[in-house]
Amino acid sequence: MEPGALNDLRFVGARRRLIEQIRAKGIEDLDLLQLFDQVPRHLFVPEGVRTRAYEDAPLPIGYGQTVSQPSLQALLLQILEPTPQDRVLEIGTGSGYLTALLALAAERVYSVERVRELSTRARFALDAIGLANVALMVGDGSIGWRKFAPYDVITVSAASPSVPRALTDQLADRGRLLLPVGTRRAQTLVLIRREGDRLVRESLEQRCTFVPLLGRYGWGEEEEPGSRRPR
Ligand code: SAH
Repeated sequence: MEPGALNDLRFVGARRRLIEQIRAKGIEDLDLLQLFDQVPRHLFVPEGVRTRAYEDAPLPIGYGQTVSQPSLQALLLQILEPTPQDRVLEIGTGSGYLTALLALAAERVYSVERVRELSTRARFALDAIGLANVALMVGDGSIGWRKFAPYDVITVSAASPSVPRALTDQLADRGRLLLPVGTRRAQTLVLIRREGDRLVRESLEQRCTFVPLLGRYGWGEEEEPGSRRPR
């Protein structure tokens, strides 16, 4: 942990208020809320938005990408229920903030990001807080990360036109895959559970807007933002 990173007095109170806001949205699990107390979000966002690091809001992280709203990330964690024995695959490392939350809750996190600079920055922040159980890769996460499959938890932080087959193939027995599925502008969360050879699909009510998943099983990179046509 970077000396003083967690106890930086400018941020301690703000972090507590953020946790209260997440609680107010119906996330009651204390272990889960505790994770938000252990990750200094201000180290994961660019300097220009650092003073806003503990708002319950998405923030720009550069390269046209955003770190999601903390209460939405709390909801993802509540649904996925990562345990200390779980191996997690994350698609869309972005800032690395969700990566850090997952790394505290699970055994090991494998995270794929297509923008090299974001992956580099995420690595820097993860190292700063001493999280060593994270492997990062730069590449197209819509095809997963076959080398370390299968995974108990797979989470996708970018909007997909459909559920990539490559990801369900990399799901362990009793594994959970959560991803936003829909158009480039609006999605709902879809949860898939593997039970042996069966995949059980559940569409959740939660409406959300994630940045698009680009790549082989995502959207085409050549399309204008806002286009609804899958490749
Ligand atoms: N959970 C992240 C969210 C970042 S936004 C956070 O807490 O910051 C989603 C990220 O997905 C972006 O950084 C974007 O570059 C990345 N992304 C989009 N398509 C991708 C793909 N096919 N493979 C890997 N990363 C992808």
